[in-house]
Amino acid sequence: MKKKVLALSLTGLMALGGIASAPISVGAVGEGPNYGGNESIQTSILHTYDSMVDFLKTQDAKQTAMQLEVIGKTLKGREIYLAKYVSNPNNPTILFLTQQHGNEQLTTEGALEFIKHLGTGKMKGVLDNVNILVIPMLNADGAMGDVDFSLDDYVADGGRHLTRYNADGADLNRDHVDKKYPETQALHNNVLKKYKIDYMIDLHHQGTQSERDGKYVSGSLLYPTNKNVKPEVLERSKKLGAIVFNAVDSTGWGHLGKYDGGNGENIGRNGAAVQYDISTLLFEMRGMSDHYYESYAIGQKSNGYLIKQTITTLDASVRAIADGSIKTVDTSFWDTLPVQNTRPSGEETE
Ligand SMILES: [Zn+2]
Repeated sequence: MKKKVLALSLTGLMALGGIASAPISVGAVGEGPNYGGNESIQTSILHTYDSMVDFLKTQDAKQTAMQLEVIGKTLKGREIYLAKYVSNPNNPTILFLTQQHGNEQLTTEGALEFIKHLGTGKMKGVLDNVNILVIPMLNADGAMGDVDFSLDDYVADGGRHLTRYNADGADLNRDHVDKKYPETQALHNNVLKKYKIDYMIDLHHQGTQSERDGKYVSGSLLYPTNKNVKPEVLERSKKLGAIVFNAVDSTGWGHLGKYDGGNGENIGRNGAAVQYDISTLLFEMRGMSDHYYESYAIGQKSNGYLIKQTITTLDASVRAIADGSIKTVDTSFWDTLPVQNTRPSGEETE
């Protein structure tokens, strides 16, 4: 089934005259060219599920402000973790969610670094004024390639394949209305419903070929777009986006576009906003850790700045919520930020 999709999209691209002459690794953001068949994609440098759990337990033992909780299990029985920093239930609360799609792992790597960072003491005053929830690697089965379908045509090396889908081949980021899968149920029943969450950043990776103003983007952003999102929830989402945009754009290596996303409530960005009045932001970073479609996977030379982009995003968000500056940030950049141009294959989004 996967191969058929690949064949169709390649045919579509060739029909558009895009594939044979497309510049593959010229003009990449930062130090990182995309894969293009010239660079290996090494999954061995990424945390495995088990090494991530070890990391979280080590941090939990070290950090008094942190609490580690299991919120449920994946289809294959892996425990899904939530790292919590709740100093005062009345503080504003932000949730960072990574790896609904198992092949989008650098956001998890960044989130783990951020958790370590929270234990260093530099964030002590900040943690008094904001509650932080982090779910790293929601889709651990997909991340470990432990699924009931073949990944033989995926491109990465390193002893493991990573896939977007859960073990059953389902896209968890289309399950936020039906909530058919245990991963989605854990997120909704034991986190979204249980805590009074004000903000959420849903962290993903997109393909490598998106650009803005003729230059590859390091990522793209979008607020909830479902028509049932309350205006005040939307406005706060745009403010969260402004904080992130300003922090990343000012780094010199960050270059962001606006994501062209769907309006369905079944997408997490929309579902959390409609169902719980959570102000949400989708952040799609450049390139995936593995894929059967070569141009979606990104070489490891890009790992450094993409992990840093995640840390910058999480750090700026919590600081702006803690000091209240998020309430007054100017959101007018949304009116002029161009939608990124994306190679027209049309599959595998958000
Ligand atoms: Zn994704």
